[in-house]
Amino acid sequence: MSYQPPTTVAGALRLHYNENTAGCSPAVLAALAAVTREDAAFYPDYAPITARCEREFGVDAGWVQLTNGLDEGLQVAAQWARSAQDTTSNRTGARPEVIITEPTFEMYDAYAETVHANLVRLPPEPDFRFPLDRLLAALTANTRLIYLTDPNNPTGLPLPADAVQAVAEAAPHALVLVDEAYADFSGRTSIGPLLDRCRHVVVGRTFAKAHGLAALRAGALVAHPDTLDELRRLLPPFSLNVAAIRALAAALDDRACLDWYVSESVTSRTRIYEFCRRHDFPFWPSQANFVLFRVGDRATAVVNALAERRILIRDKSAAAGCAGCVRMTAGVVAHTERALNALEEILASRAH
Ligand SMILES: *Cc1c(COP(=O)(O)O)cnc(C)c1O
Repeated sequence: MSYQPPTTVAGALRLHYNENTAGCSPAVLAALAAVTREDAAFYPDYAPITARCEREFGVDAGWVQLTNGLDEGLQVAAQWARSAQDTTSNRTGARPEVIITEPTFEMYDAYAETVHANLVRLPPEPDFRFPLDRLLAALTANTRLIYLTDPNNPTGLPLPADAVQAVAEAAPHALVLVDEAYADFSGRTSIGPLLDRCRHVVVGRTFAKAHGLAALRAGALVAHPDTLDELRRLLPPFSLNVAAIRALAAALDDRACLDWYVSESVTSRTRIYEFCRRHDFPFWPSQANFVLFRVGDRATAVVNALAERRILIRDKSAAAGCAGCVRMTAGVVAHTERALNALEEILASRAH
């Protein structure tokens, strides 16, 4: 299934993409303005920004590969699955298998399709408990890639402790891609000794969400250098442009900006939970900058009514296990309040 981006309304409050609606750090704009004519003319040198990211993630030299957004990293993992399968099974011609746990980020599905993989979707368990046993049972000799998401999108739920290790130990013939797009909010990460023990575990990070660089495109893969070398062979040599790498350096240096946004997000989540409790809407406690909650049969109508007021949230009713659910960004508190006030009015007008 190819990815269908949700509709947007120009000038609307965008709470449907988990973006940083405060915008990037002002230091990013200064860094962009400082780009010289030569900077634009020469192929970029990735060594300094890669070293900066290795420091940021607390890993040694060689453990970080920057990508054109995390999406490029997710895609290259799928390409690795295809090429690894071609190498190991060229007599049987079996398709590589890619495993996902539903509901999850839509792009895994799209990337698995581009490499003609057999996509194994594990349906949700009650309350989106992580289906570790079913995942282990789904592994076969052809499993080449498992996408895990910590915390998950759209639920905001963390993976259980040790789940990554259990999967990695049971699937030494597969790449285990742990998508940590929201790790800046959860404070959790699989980066650490696990990556040395389980060399086919790759952690994916992005600077799109918490750092507010979605339009500049900067992401990273973190893994043992031998594994990254295999992925590098599948990547183009200059996938980040000079604006992205200057912006990224400036964003990483503005720690206060990130801390402010993360604390806004914590407050916003609490406001959304309070709103849900008042309305008796089930919700899932989130470790990311969004909250999934169940409005019920009116979910799509409510999303549309909000859009008429130029406030966009995501209708998740069609996602596995998410009937009647919407996902709303929990970032800038003033934006959360605006959306919740509008939602309050919409719900009140429907009650009569
Ligand atoms: C937003 C998102 C990404 C995409 O990150 P980019 O760096 O913008 O490509 C990847 N994974 C998850 C789970 C996301 O929500």
